[in-house]
Amino acid sequence: MEKSLIILGSTGSIGTQSLTVARQNGWRVTGLAAGSNVDLIEQQVREFKPLKVALFSEEAAKDLKVRIADTDTAVLSGISGVCEVAESEGDLVLNAIVGIAGLRPTVAALKAGKQFALANKETLVTGGSLVMNLAREKGIKILPVDSEHSAIFQSLQGAPENSLKKILLTASGGPFYSKTREDLKNVTVEQALKHPNWSMGAKITIDSATLMNKGLEVIEAVHLFGVKAEDIEVLVHRQSILHSAVEFCDGAVIGQLGTPDMKVPIQYALTYPERADVAYERLSLADIGTLTFARPDTDTFKCLKVCIDAINKGGLVPAAANGANEEAVRLFLEKKISFLQIGDLVEAAAANQKVFAGYTLEDVFEADRAAREFVISHFGG
Ligand code: NAD
Ligand code: MG
Repeated sequence: MEKSLIILGSTGSIGTQSLTVARQNGWRVTGLAAGSNVDLIEQQVREFKPLKVALFSEEAAKDLKVRIADTDTAVLSGISGVCEVAESEGDLVLNAIVGIAGLRPTVAALKAGKQFALANKETLVTGGSLVMNLAREKGIKILPVDSEHSAIFQSLQGAPENSLKKILLTASGGPFYSKTREDLKNVTVEQALKHPNWSMGAKITIDSATLMNKGLEVIEAVHLFGVKAEDIEVLVHRQSILHSAVEFCDGAVIGQLGTPDMKVPIQYALTYPERADVAYERLSLADIGTLTFARPDTDTFKCLKVCIDAINKGGLVPAAANGANEEAVRLFLEKKISFLQIGDLVEAAAANQKVFAGYTLEDVFEADRAAREFVISHFGG
């Protein structure tokens, strides 16, 4: 299959795995964008020879321009540069930027009418209805890369309309499964960064430890699949083998299983509706033996509950919860707040946000800014 790709967030965990998938399938990469990692993006430019590359950091982009002056790749910078790459020549845009920083590039890619694969869940958490409306208007199907949403999407292929009863969204439970609030009082950044099953960027790894990631995923699923939060059951599944499932009106449950390897959902999004061979490890259920399921402890891991409340309220509340979380995770990684403070701050910032059902993109950024400011002015007290 001939395909030309634009990878946003190309130096991150999903971005580099996407390039591995592109390399293995022999796909052309016409655009790359990232934050500031000049060394890695220089290597990527030299290997994939894209038409355009953007770095969000102006300084890093200047450096890159000098370094790749011998190539034909145009260097852009800032958010406008990242958006320009998202709109540029290429069939499909994969957005693997972390955080709300991915929202404007998502809008740019959709406006330009690109096929669109989404790893950047914060896009839907913050700008959900705007983004879904835009995709609908443009006739674009958003292809989920997040493993759970890919599993749901795969399980829904061929499903008759109105037959979906419920989504079973699985969660690994993260490194602190079964711990009490007392146990979590003094956990360190290093402990929180040790995920049992997945190797991912720092922000999403902390989100997995707090269960904020699962809360963000509930919101993502509400938008992607047009369901209510009450129709999503979160199940702690420690082995990360059943990546999620759907229950149909007749009681049949269909799920997608596989090894915990993001290259599988990445490749599915990029080959959809086809499938391609993979060179990776295959699932052996006999070796695994046991799959377990349990209900999440939302009293200890309050971020999940805060996100469910936020999407039930709707409007800008999810954007506020997300903005507060991005800021709180940053402070935790910088060792300025404790692990449990993340949930407390996200809860308080979400409670502080008014709903505003009809919102614009600029309103989303304003809610994000206000939530971040709330966290910064409250974390010490
Ligand atoms: P990461 O931190 O490893 O990579 C993030 C990428 O975004 C980097 O290339 C970085 O340079 C780029 N970036 C950051 N700020 C930017 C900006 N302002 N402009 C342009 N680029 C910017 O993160 P990750 O783990 O790869 O996650 C990326 C996204 O995918 C997140 O939304 C995450 O929730 C989602 N996701 C990740 C995984 C995973 O396994 N890593 C799984 C499911 C979903
Ligand atoms: Mg996920």
